[in-house]
Amino acid sequence: MKAAILSVGTELLFGQVVNTNAAYLSKELNSMGIDVMYHYTVGDNPARLADMIHMSFKDCDLVITTGGLGPTQDDMTKEIACQVLGDKLVEDKKVLEELEERLKAFGKDLVVTFNNYKQAMVPSRGVIFHNENGSAPGFALGDPEEKKFIICLPGPPREMTAMFKTSAASWLEKLVDSAMVYKEIRMFGIGESELETRLLPLIDGQTDPTLATYVKNGECSVRIASKRATKEEASAAVAEMIEKVNGYIGDFVYSLDNEELVQVVGRKLLEKNITISCAESCTGGMFAAALTDVPGISAVFDRGIVTYSNKAKMEELGVKEETLAAHGAVSEETAMEMAEGIRRVSGSDIGISVTGIAGPGGGTPEKPVGLVYIGFVYGDKKICKKIDRRITDRSANRRHSLLTMLNIINKEI
Ligand code: ATP
Repeated sequence: MKAAILSVGTELLFGQVVNTNAAYLSKELNSMGIDVMYHYTVGDNPARLADMIHMSFKDCDLVITTGGLGPTQDDMTKEIACQVLGDKLVEDKKVLEELEERLKAFGKDLVVTFNNYKQAMVPSRGVIFHNENGSAPGFALGDPEEKKFIICLPGPPREMTAMFKTSAASWLEKLVDSAMVYKEIRMFGIGESELETRLLPLIDGQTDPTLATYVKNGECSVRIASKRATKEEASAAVAEMIEKVNGYIGDFVYSLDNEELVQVVGRKLLEKNITISCAESCTGGMFAAALTDVPGISAVFDRGIVTYSNKAKMEELGVKEETLAAHGAVSEETAMEMAEGIRRVSGSDIGISVTGIAGPGGGTPEKPVGLVYIGFVYGDKKICKKIDRRITDRSANRRHSLLTMLNIINKEI
């Protein structure tokens, strides 16, 4: 089945609202084995909306719209859906009752206005979807002979996602004649071009499962997808391909099932009961914040100290004045004294530190922007990792430092 996602709303075209609905629906439809061919965005304009639906139906069986289901004059999506599929709007008693109850609950004197009643009008042949989080119902409308289907969902993401999960997905499942399974392998420390080069023997001539490489937030991933007659067949094909991919790039892989690196590290620390504390400079607490995203981490995470100034590094961690004078704050020597210092004051099994020049300014020819040192001490292991990427983007440098810290822990424990 081929689908187009049609986002309705002038605010999207103005860039005032980011179109998260289309991304959400694409993921969901893909995982159900529905091929999303197009994303269209159209303003609150009935003629253009009708054009877009007609255009989508040239090679798609399904159009999913979001937005334009509300009570105001410019909300025209359901009128247009009916027009295209030859249906008419009729009043739905159940929707009307719910609406009146909802409005009464807001305030006893609230008057139900004529445009509220517009929301109780639904396509006569439609399957109506209840809106748990708002007042506009959604619906599915189909022309089974022509194999053309429209699903209309509300614009607000909270309303849309709930309605998709509780109603639209099960309606769609009945139409879909194949199953799609996909997994995302996540990795760190390898660039996209090297990744693709290594996987070329598998990527070349691929049909099913398909392999696609991605870069997001400084990390690479490989998405493996298979579409077969049943979920079991698709899962088996994906599992077999994961084995092969792992054979080519296993060194860099930290998750075979789309987990965040910090979750993998957190779980490992907890399973092995290894305690940890950190001393951060250029990441300003990002490491501690990321780690505390992991549920239950208090069992092993003792403390995180942000030691931004030289004074703080000396006072909190016992970094020596001579070290700072001789090598500077951004140096292997300082990073290691920071890691030793935090391990000593906390008594944790692992002490990890980071110090660097995040940019965009502050670099020198000897110490360019992007230069970062990470210190790691654990038992007898003492590791210093130097990063020198010559990248001036402050947030990219900070994020890369955080991921490198996590990656060291993941490898070393
Ligand atoms: P209602 O009028 O009941 O709020 P509606 O279906 O008419 O619902 P719209 O008025 O089109 O929805 O959109 C309501 C709000 O939902 C928008 O102002 C915007 O904040 C959000 N929204 C709409 N479409 C999208 C989208 N594609 N992605 C993210 N947010 C969206």
